[in-house]
Amino acid sequence: YSGKKPAQSIEESMIGMKVRDFQSMPVVVTEQISVYDAICHIFLEDVGTLYVVDNDSYLTGVLSRKDLLRTSLGGNDLNKMPVHVIMTRMPNITYCKKQDTLIDVAKKMIDKQIDSLPVIEENVDGLNVVGRITKTNITAAFLSLGDEHEL
Ligand code: ADP
Repeated sequence: YSGKKPAQSIEESMIGMKVRDFQSMPVVVTEQISVYDAICHIFLEDVGTLYVVDNDSYLTGVLSRKDLLRTSLGGNDLNKMPVHVIMTRMPNITYCKKQDTLIDVAKKMIDKQIDSLPVIEENVDGLNVVGRITKTNITAAFLSLGDEHEL
């Protein structure tokens, strides 16, 4: 006996997969940092997306690799330009919560054509970033179904 669940229960397992069990740590920067420093963060932290917060640590923006590439091609002084000028900002940010299902997250990623979602906790004054969920996390979740079930 392999100790694995039967293949027939894979649907139930899939529906039960939650953000909290697959999320990664968020990489967060403040609105004032320069585009140059944001690019350094992307390499140093080995992520594809940075989340931008204000001085109260509330979510205000998202910076992707393409946002940074586009700005780099524009002939700007990357050391002088703050990221808040180029980021995608609230209220146009798609996010999720720890208790959301991975299926909901996957749907949002495909509908909006984005690679990641910040995981947030809602506060009266704003949104606290507590995690990130990426296409890699979804792929890992997909693989875990195979590990846990007799296929
Ligand atoms: P890349 O640009 O590296 O391909 P994405 O596909 O995730 O990465 O980003 C595409 C665009 O969508 C970028 O302009 C980025 O700022 C924006 N974006 C990324 N994630 C989100 C999100 N969760 N909510 C809203 N906009 C986002």
